Amino acid sequence: MRYWKARHLASYAMRVEKTQGRRFPEPPHPYRNEYERDRDRILHSRAFRRLENKTQVFTRRYSDHFRDRLTHTLEVAQISRTVAGALGLNSDLVEALALVHDVGHPPFGHTGEAVLDRLMRRYGDRFDHNLHALHIVEHFEQKYAEFPGLNLTFEVREGIIKHSRSYDPDEFPELQEYRLGEQPPLEAQLIDVADEIAYNCADLDDGYESKLLTLKLIREGVPLFDRLYRPIERRYASMPEKLRFNEALKRVMDTLVTDVIDATRDRLKKLGVRSVAKVRSYPQRLVVPRPRLALENKRVKEFLFRRLYSHPEVRAERQKIVTALERLFQYFMKNPRSLPPSTFGRTLREPVHRVVCDYLAGMTDRYLQGRYAKHLGG
Ligand code: MG
Repeated sequence: MRYWKARHLASYAMRVEKTQGRRFPEPPHPYRNEYERDRDRILHSRAFRRLENKTQVFTRRYSDHFRDRLTHTLEVAQISRTVAGALGLNSDLVEALALVHDVGHPPFGHTGEAVLDRLMRRYGDRFDHNLHALHIVEHFEQKYAEFPGLNLTFEVREGIIKHSRSYDPDEFPELQEYRLGEQPPLEAQLIDVADEIAYNCADLDDGYESKLLTLKLIREGVPLFDRLYRPIERRYASMPEKLRFNEALKRVMDTLVTDVIDATRDRLKKLGVRSVAKVRSYPQRLVVPRPRLALENKRVKEFLFRRLYSHPEVRAERQKIVTALERLFQYFMKNPRSLPPSTFGRTLREPVHRVVCDYLAGMTDRYLQGRYAKHLGG
């Protein structure tokens, strides 16, 4: 099959002129459409810049070459744009959604999220990175004179909420406006798949680079990689192992991306999906890999869990973070006056645990370590 970048949006793409708009109406911009403006606002936000100092899997202790959350985000944007181009989806919306998809992550990624959630449960509350991201773009970013937050369009805010999970409308009445009973447009569905491809490939790459994973381990544990590696081994037998590894990993990514494009295109055609309304009302997500590739993905993930994420060295790093977050949380709960003045001000209107949690969640890894050293002698 030949691929080309669709010159026109497909009938099932989200058209910018159909946007449900912004919370605070604004006049149109002379030469940027609403989704381009959203993308640019995200790019210029403080939360976006903080991604540079947030861990993906490896902390800076290992090397400067490893992904952090900013480079991961850019990789998700690249994959998403490619798929959007091939499917005729709205790439402006896709790019905005990709750039914003991880801004709600606390320091040290999923570990940080789990710790904060556990601490919040003690107060009958919770922490969730999608909800935190929504608060960032709606309230915490203070940048514009006319409105709080970034005043993003409905579809970008909806995409934030529908990233990688769904919310029960009875449990989250405050999210009612986000059409919880419906699927998000294909542009938002795409982000979850691109996210998974990006981190699976990146973690294999960084895992190999860190020497915590070897080529032998990867070939034994990831059948897709092994299959693609075999012809490369023959063809580039005299090349350094690292280049052969790169060639195979490149093909892994290509296989996963091509599958998503083909599978989605076939599915949409077979089901006769020709509008956003049909996408929204379909009972399942439509941008998903074929079952065979979904299984391969699952194998990669399981392998990474077993061999990389639970590696003693990675675990030891994680334990330090857990301790720092827990102890700082308790410290600020006891000493709210040690919070920055504007943050302390919030404790007069909101529960202290919420304010402390949001404050910690907004920190970069480095800032967290600095605060820990300052208040608790780190
Ligand atoms: Mg991500």
